[in-house]
Amino acid sequence: MSKRTIQAARAIVTGASGGIGRAIACELARQGAAVVVVARRQEKLDELVAQIAATGGRAVAVAGDVTDAATRQRAVDAAVSQFGGLDVLVNNAGIGATGPFRQADPQRLRQIMEVNFFALAEMTRVALPQLEQGNRPIVVNVASVLAYHGAPYNSEYSASKFAVRGFSESIRAELTAVGIDVLVVSPGTTETEFFDNVLEDVAQPSWPEHKPVSAAEVARQTVRAIRRGKHEIVPYGWGRVFCWLCRLSPRLIDRLMARYT
Ligand code: NDP
Repeated sequence: MSKRTIQAARAIVTGASGGIGRAIACELARQGAAVVVVARRQEKLDELVAQIAATGGRAVAVAGDVTDAATRQRAVDAAVSQFGGLDVLVNNAGIGATGPFRQADPQRLRQIMEVNFFALAEMTRVALPQLEQGNRPIVVNVASVLAYHGAPYNSEYSASKFAVRGFSESIRAELTAVGIDVLVVSPGTTETEFFDNVLEDVAQPSWPEHKPVSAAEVARQTVRAIRRGKHEIVPYGWGRVFCWLCRLSPRLIDRLMARYT
């Protein structure tokens, strides 16, 4: 049962030069949305815009850092000037770092919170006036399974994703009155460049072997959830088991986390 159609929707996707964001932009365009793609690497965005255009879709690139207010404003302005408004905002840009908290530079925490949380919240703020006038509008915030339980050596990242989930729940309640939905997407391990792009890789938890899911599969499930007006999805089988166990027995997860440290 669909709550909205993607055909003719106007969307912004941040972090669209690679990985999950690129896959979401492609899936939205494939289903008929016009997409503003945002990231720092202009050449990757240009390639994506050309690829979408080659298949008959519509996309425009806004190159810049999402932590910069001017980039966020340019993205909203592009949706308005090129497509006439905004219906779907996908806050996906994110970075990580791994290593023990007690040895980490305070800058690591600042940088991760700037990209993963403050930029996401401020992007939402600047987009809200246009979303309010949109057609069945929705904000999609990409969190992580680590928004359900913090993981060792991922303190800053886990904290940022908990913040994303808490923020999303709050604004979902507030925005119901103006007809804006809020979807939280919490991927598990996904095959992208994320782990090559971490700010620092000092030490990793020794997780048991597990197979990553593809970015295309995360995108497919995300766009389906947008259509259906879902509030929360975990687009990864083991991730769903993990989140269920976190609710059922957080102490068990605490013990397992300590074991993998
Ligand atoms: P990638 O590293 O492959 O992609 C990250 C994207 O974010 C890139 O397009 C990058 O583009 C962009 N980006 C990073 N920093 C900025 C910035 N300051 N300003 C603008 N764009 C930025 O990672 P994923 O695709 O895997 O990650 C996407 C989201 O999914 C993130 O929020 C991540 O936390 C989350 N996630 C990922 C998981 C995984 O296993 N891969 C698991 C759980 C959650 P550019 O460098 O061109 O700016």
